[in-house]
Amino acid sequence: MCDEQTVHETLATCPGLGSITLCPCGTVSLHVGGISVRMELSAYMQVAKMCHIAMLSLDNQVRTMAQAVHNASAVTH
Ligand SMILES: [Zn+2]
Repeated sequence: MCDEQTVHETLATCPGLGSITLCPCGTVSLHVGGISVRMELSAYMQVAKMCHIAMLSLDNQVRTMAQAVHNASAVTH
C-alpha cells in the first residue's frame, strides 16, 4: 500500500455517504462516514459481489423500508 501522499483515482462518490477510490498500487479504499476500509482490488471485487448478492437477497418490502429510512440516516450501526 502507498502512503497518504499518493494520488488516488475516485471511482465513485455518494454525497452524504462516502466514496470509493483506487490507488495506483491496486488498493481500493472504501470511505463510508468516518470509516475507511482499504483492501486489495481482488478483495474489493469479492466485496462488491457479496453486496450484490445481499441486495438480491433483500425482498421488495425490505428495500422499501431501507429507502424510507435512507433520508433519516445514511449510516447506522
Ligand atoms: Zn497504494
